[in-house]
Amino acid sequence: LCDTILSAVYLSSRCTFFLSPSMDVDMWHHPATQANIKQLQGYGNQLIPVGTGELASGLEGEGRLAEPEAIVAHLEAFFQREQDLQGKHFLITAGPTHEPIDPVRFIGNRSSGKMGVALAEAIIARGGTVQLILGPSALSPAAPGLEVIRVETAQEMYEVALAAFPETDVAILAAAVADYRPDKAADQKIKKTGDTLSLTLVKNPDIAATLGERKQAGQLVVGFALETTNAEANARDKLRRKQLDLIVLNSLAEAGAGFAHDTNKITIFARDNKARHFELKSKTKVAFDILDTLVEYLD
Ligand code: C5P
Repeated sequence: LCDTILSAVYLSSRCTFFLSPSMDVDMWHHPATQANIKQLQGYGNQLIPVGTGELASGLEGEGRLAEPEAIVAHLEAFFQREQDLQGKHFLITAGPTHEPIDPVRFIGNRSSGKMGVALAEAIIARGGTVQLILGPSALSPAAPGLEVIRVETAQEMYEVALAAFPETDVAILAAAVADYRPDKAADQKIKKTGDTLSLTLVKNPDIAATLGERKQAGQLVVGFALETTNAEANARDKLRRKQLDLIVLNSLAEAGAGFAHDTNKITIFARDNKARHFELKSKTKVAFDILDTLVEYLD
C-alpha cells in the first residue's frame, strides 16, 4: 500500500525529488540497487549520498541515512543553485590529535571534528572536491568527491597535509592540533610509582604556518583561532604570523559555540583587515558563511 501511494505521488509530481536512501550495506551495494539509483538520477532526481558507519543490522559500512546536517547542506546548495566551487580542490584538517604518552595513554583535546566535516560536506554540495585529514573523531563522513585520510598525531597530520598541499587550491585548517607532544612515548604502560610524574613535552610542527610559508600565487590558506583572552588581537596576530588569507575566530564565551556543539558563532578576519561578524547558527550554515567569504578571495 505504501509503495502504491509513493508511486502515485512520485509519478504525478512535476517537482524535483530528493532521494536519501537508507539500507543495509549489502543491499546498497547490490547491482540492482545501484542500477535503480542511476536510473532515478537519470530522470533528474537528486541523490543525497548515504552515510557510512554502524547500521541497524549491526554491520558497519555504507548505507546509513545521511546525517540531518548533510541533508540540509544538500538542500541548501540545491536551492542556492551554487556550484561555485566546481574544479576547486580543498584540503581540510579536522578533529583533535592524540599524542601518545605510552601504549594506552595520550594527550588530546575536546575537538569533535564537526566544523571541519561540515565544511567538507558544504564544499562537496557546492561542486568542489575535498581531501579531509581527520584526527581521532567519532565521525565517519562519506560522500562522492570526498577523500578521508585518518591520522592520529600532529606529526602525521603535518606530513599528510604537506604532501597534499601542492595540488590544493584552498587549505582550511580546522583541526585542533596539539602544540606539544611527549618527547618520547614509553614502550610499555607507565606504572604508578612516585607521587608525581613529569613528562617532557616538545613542540609539534605548525601545519598552518608551514602551509602559509609554502603558499603559491592562487592558493589560499584559512586558519581557525579559539581564544580565551584578547580574542580579536590574537586572531589578527595569527593571521599575520602564519601568513593566512583568512582566520575564523570561534567564540568560546558564547553558549553553543566552539567545541563539540552543533552550533558555532564566528568572526572572520581577512588579510585585507576586513572583519565579518556572524550570528550563532548551525555548523552547516557557518560552513556556508566561511565558503561565501573565501570565494571573494579565490583567484
Ligand atoms: O596558534 P594556534 O594553534 O592557536 O593556531 C590555530 C590555527 O593553527 C588553527 O587553524 C589550527 O588548525 C592551526 N594549527 C596547525 N598546526 C599546529 C597548530 C595549529 O595547523 N601545530
